[in-house]
Amino acid sequence: MGKIAINIATGSLQQAETIVGIDLGTTNSLIAIVREDTRQPIALREIDGLTLVPSIVHFDRNSSAMVGNEAKELLIDEPERTIYSVKRLMGKSYKDVGHDSSFFAYNIIDDDTDSLVKIQVGDKFYSPIELSSYILKELKHRAEHILKTPVNKAVITVPAYFNDAQRQATRDAGRLAGLDVLRIVNEPTAASLAYGLGVKPEEEKTIAVYDLGGGTFDISVLKITNGIFEVLSTNGDTYLGGDDMDKAVVKHWVAELGISNAEFDGNKSLAQALRLTAEEAKKHLSSNDSFEGEIDGRKVRITKAKFNELVQPLVDRTLTACKNALRDAKLETKDIDAVVMVGGSTRVPLVKESVRDFFGKEVFDQLNPDEVVALGAAVQADILAGKNTDMLLLDVTPLSLGIETMGGLMDVLIPRNSKIPTKAGRQYTTHKDGQSGMRISVYQGERDLVQDNRKLAEFNLTGIPAMPAGLPKVEVTFLIDADGILKVSATELRSGVAQTIDVKPQYGLTDEEVERMLMDSLTHAKSDMQTRALVEASTEAEQMLETTMKFINKHRELLSGEEMEATELQMKRLKAAIAAKDKDLVQKETELLNDISRPFAERVMDAALKDAMKGKKIV
Ligand code: AMP
Repeated sequence: MGKIAINIATGSLQQAETIVGIDLGTTNSLIAIVREDTRQPIALREIDGLTLVPSIVHFDRNSSAMVGNEAKELLIDEPERTIYSVKRLMGKSYKDVGHDSSFFAYNIIDDDTDSLVKIQVGDKFYSPIELSSYILKELKHRAEHILKTPVNKAVITVPAYFNDAQRQATRDAGRLAGLDVLRIVNEPTAASLAYGLGVKPEEEKTIAVYDLGGGTFDISVLKITNGIFEVLSTNGDTYLGGDDMDKAVVKHWVAELGISNAEFDGNKSLAQALRLTAEEAKKHLSSNDSFEGEIDGRKVRITKAKFNELVQPLVDRTLTACKNALRDAKLETKDIDAVVMVGGSTRVPLVKESVRDFFGKEVFDQLNPDEVVALGAAVQADILAGKNTDMLLLDVTPLSLGIETMGGLMDVLIPRNSKIPTKAGRQYTTHKDGQSGMRISVYQGERDLVQDNRKLAEFNLTGIPAMPAGLPKVEVTFLIDADGILKVSATELRSGVAQTIDVKPQYGLTDEEVERMLMDSLTHAKSDMQTRALVEASTEAEQMLETTMKFINKHRELLSGEEMEATELQMKRLKAAIAAKDKDLVQKETELLNDISRPFAERVMDAALKDAMKGKKIV
């Protein structure tokens, strides 16, 4: 690195930019670059030889932060000052994490259930964004120390299922750490890139990325066409990983040694020693047939066969998720061209064999599974730095995005599964004369009524000049950038009055919620359709009533007494139909009112025409 280039246009010297790739993980994080000389991605290694930085932040009594291995060592002794797994809290409200909060040994604040979570350490409060920024800062320092050059730009990876809020939070954490985050890339996409999958523009492939880490499991199905990555489906378990394998071994030894529950619970150091030895055994068994160790002077042993038997149920759970992911992507195992292994726990031979057998093909496992995501992020950084053939990385929107229209209907601007970046726009108008403001409410979901969907944001377009109802042309545009962040803008085209907001939802959606919202839209499809039809008919009827009222108020002199009576009677009937929520009746009565009032409109036209012929101006 640190290469000097000359700008041909200006003759000035330019320092070739270093853009790093960062895997900001739940358990560990790391940073990688593409080497100038070999063009290969490598994880940055400290003198201690380590590439992984535990994603753990410890605060001492003076509130100074310590990150990584040093912080990890304090996890047991000072749990309330040592923050782990902060990624699980990114972009989430207390409501989102409520039922999981027992997982965290530190103090998560519940001040207002809809607001973003905060973590209390001593008398200080930290947001997950701040905490993540400490980890990123540490990575940045490391990189600068190793590369001996300033590092200001980065590509950061996130799980494929991260929503807007979580992606935005990750981006903010980067900014807070002094990094310009050029791109947020999905982890499975990065892993594929690390293996060179999808780097050639003409390549077309379907890839399964199996990611089993310490505490989480993700399976993603991706399709690459012309250098565009599309996430076809994701599945997994946010509480399943190598830690569960360790726990299974601990449980086995506890039974074998005859340790009582009370002894296990009461003796922190024994529990800790068991857990560490279990992990050691697991790692040892990845390349040996048996393990022997000692805990508190007591001998423990385990064979590979026994270990496999203990972890088989965990592996089976991952395969069920794989099945579901394939089903959601409407694919079969034979449609998968490549399987990429990610995460430390894929080193377990049983995992590798089971995945290979499930997909019926050899898996990509040559790269270090702990580093593969960061390596891919570095490849992406290299592409962005213009050092590699240019290519786009696209994903899809998991749920439809739209705005609320009259009667609480959802008007979809960007349908689900649209490839991003994407842009869509539509014109709307006012319902009342002289209406100067318009409320734009942005929703996400598949249901016909906004009340069944999830509100992302709301803003007012104000200052619309006074115009009759229906005349203003308000164009609403949705723009989703390459990071999946939505920008909504509204412009009144006649006057140029405009308003824009970045949609940063207050809290995130879990995978399950996205799935539930999709399921709901299917189960309620029929009743939703009926409701939509009724709302649409009633809206039209109300507009008809309003126009007729306006007409009567303005041109009463053009109607005979009989006509007035007939009109008023029909208006009453139509109102009753709306109140009765009978769609067919509403439509019928609207039609009748229209029949009665149509000739009146013609009369107005005639009158206007006569006026015009008299040389008057029509207004
Ligand atoms: P990750 O979250 O991807 O860093 O994965 C960490 C997990 O991988 C932990 O549960 C480790 O115990 C596990 N792991 C690391 N090395 C090995 C190994 N050689 N064999 C089995 N599991 C391992």
